[in-house]
Amino acid sequence: MSAYSSDFRYLSYAQEVIFTSGAVSRLSESVDRFHWQRLMLCTSRSVKSNGNVALLEDMLGDRLVTIYDQVQPHVPDIQVAEALSLALENHVGAVIGLGGGSPIGMAKAVSFALEEKRTGHSTRSVFPTEQPLIPVIAIPTTYAGSEMTAVYGITHTKETPPRKITVSDPKIAPKLVIYDPELTLDLPPQLTASTGVNALAHCIEAMYSITRHPLSTAAAHRGIRHISNALLRCYQDGKNLEARAQMLLGSHLAGLSLASASMGLHHGLCHVLGGTANVPHGIANSIILPHAIRFNAEATASQLLPAAEAMGISLNGISPVMVIEALAQKVSELVGQMNLPRRLRDAGVDLKESDLPALAQLAFQSHTIQNNPKPITEPAQIETLLQNAW
Ligand code: NAD
Repeated sequence: MSAYSSDFRYLSYAQEVIFTSGAVSRLSESVDRFHWQRLMLCTSRSVKSNGNVALLEDMLGDRLVTIYDQVQPHVPDIQVAEALSLALENHVGAVIGLGGGSPIGMAKAVSFALEEKRTGHSTRSVFPTEQPLIPVIAIPTTYAGSEMTAVYGITHTKETPPRKITVSDPKIAPKLVIYDPELTLDLPPQLTASTGVNALAHCIEAMYSITRHPLSTAAAHRGIRHISNALLRCYQDGKNLEARAQMLLGSHLAGLSLASASMGLHHGLCHVLGGTANVPHGIANSIILPHAIRFNAEATASQLLPAAEAMGISLNGISPVMVIEALAQKVSELVGQMNLPRRLRDAGVDLKESDLPALAQLAFQSHTIQNNPKPITEPAQIETLLQNAW
């Protein structure tokens, strides 16, 4: 069987991607080249405290008209409203997301809503080639991969329980993506580890995605090689620029595969665990990934063999399903080596075992879960997985 379906269809986006050490110094030149004016910066507190915001302020001068620097994980709707009113007051023309998936998600949410406010009608693209009125610039400092995608999630805090909703539209794919490995040198070990596992999860789910295509498979496969080579080294020595660059390259390839292939059970569950139970995104990924690999093993073994091989597992003399079990164990070992929790009970949030059935019900309704390669026909299947992960 080939590694990808023979028929395929996918969207790609017009994006300029710059990847080099020191790339952030090119931001000013790019902003001028695109004639972007009245920029807004969305970021989070810890990114502000390590000097990167000051760097952008110096570089952009009065082209940077406002900063929203409080973005919280999982992007609560209340914060989107605050950032949007700041953007409106300041007649913002482009939005920069600097940091992890949350500030980049916030930049996308502001761009989308701001265009709607300006034009007075829905900003939904009719055709995938439509361009945004308010472009997004993404400068990632974690390995989450949001910079390459046309999706954002926001948490609707007034629902009971709170629920994370995703919005996707080709216009919100960042138009300029700047990857600068130097910006990741300060990423603390736990965030290095957890967002790195998030990148690995994009690649794994892209490999077995029901909408995989030759490019997503190639990107995901190569991404796994780089991540497998570099993640533990980045965790052990955050200042190793060579490992940081290789890991960021792995996360770029992971983001590229995520952008054009639908995800499955793993991503659907992590969204529910984040939006409803407040489990940090990377931690949810670390706990769930080995279980999702096992759950899907029989349906996806042939697609995942190259992933196992890219993680250094020998394919000789053992059945494909056993290779996939070895892959699940390898991921679990990597998670353990980086001192990340491996059980939901250790996720560090107020989650009880008795909450699992309701979480399974909620996840079952998710579109992402319905795209899982092994059909999920009842919430009990998800509940069993959650029990195994408890
Ligand atoms: P995050 O953006 O929530 O950041 C987590 C923490 O890391 C924050 O406290 C932040 O301040 C800190 N941080 C980020 N960079 C740092 C740095 N260089 N040094 C020190 N601290 C730093 O977390 P994340 O894991 O990057 O992103 C997760 C969010 O992104 C979730 O909401 C997830 O759903 C979303 N996401 C979206 C996509 C997409 O395609 N839209 C893809 C992946 C993740």
